[in-house]
Amino acid sequence: MRIIILRKERFLLFLSLFTVLGGLLFLFPFLYRVIPARSRLGQTTILLDPGHGGIDGGTQDRAGNLEKDINLAIAHKIRAQLTQCGVNVVMTREEDTELAPYQPGRGGRHRRDLTARIERARSAKALYLVSIHCDWSTAATRRGMVAFYYYRNPVGKNLALSIQEELNKIQPQPQKAAPGKYFLLEQPGFNGVIVEVGFLSHPEEAALLQQADYQEKVAFAIAQGILRALPTTAAHPSPASSPP
Ligand SMILES: [Zn+2]
Repeated sequence: MRIIILRKERFLLFLSLFTVLGGLLFLFPFLYRVIPARSRLGQTTILLDPGHGGIDGGTQDRAGNLEKDINLAIAHKIRAQLTQCGVNVVMTREEDTELAPYQPGRGGRHRRDLTARIERARSAKALYLVSIHCDWSTAATRRGMVAFYYYRNPVGKNLALSIQEELNKIQPQPQKAAPGKYFLLEQPGFNGVIVEVGFLSHPEEAALLQQADYQEKVAFAIAQGILRALPTTAAHPSPASSPP
């Protein structure tokens, strides 16, 4: 009697093992696709570049609020969003510092500063460089957030389009991602995008950019744009080759 029960238990044990194994085999093609895609996120490095810093304040609004501080605040918020999603994030600066300090007798500080940012993107082996800036115009009515890309870099363009689509969900007048002539974007070795998060010459937009919850909204849109542009199931695309 005891033996029969044991056999029955053994049979039930085998049956449940078969069920579990069968279920795993059934799920395998799905898991195979999802798990590597998730783990690849951790291998992808995004370089966030809050424009200006230190001696270089960038542009400013009528109240004297500096672009460099807005750029940095938004970049920190983007980093928090991306890190939560398992993306590896490196920043060109984490505080109010310039990347190329003023050196008496050595001109070209601006170019040296940009070169330092480019070198950071290359040494971090970043797939994307996302540079955050604020715009300024003599036309006081001009407003809106625009993502710029280098027209010869299709990966950068795709990223800019993705970010623009998300930004358009939160701005009153939709804008178009645009090709731009920027030294930073034309560099080989990574795919760069410059996001102008608004005009400090526009009083309403400038006031919004001072608010932490608005900065959070902008950061969320940019992070979503980056995440949507990330390669998940496809092979990791290599950064654009050197422009001729
Ligand atoms: Zn700027």
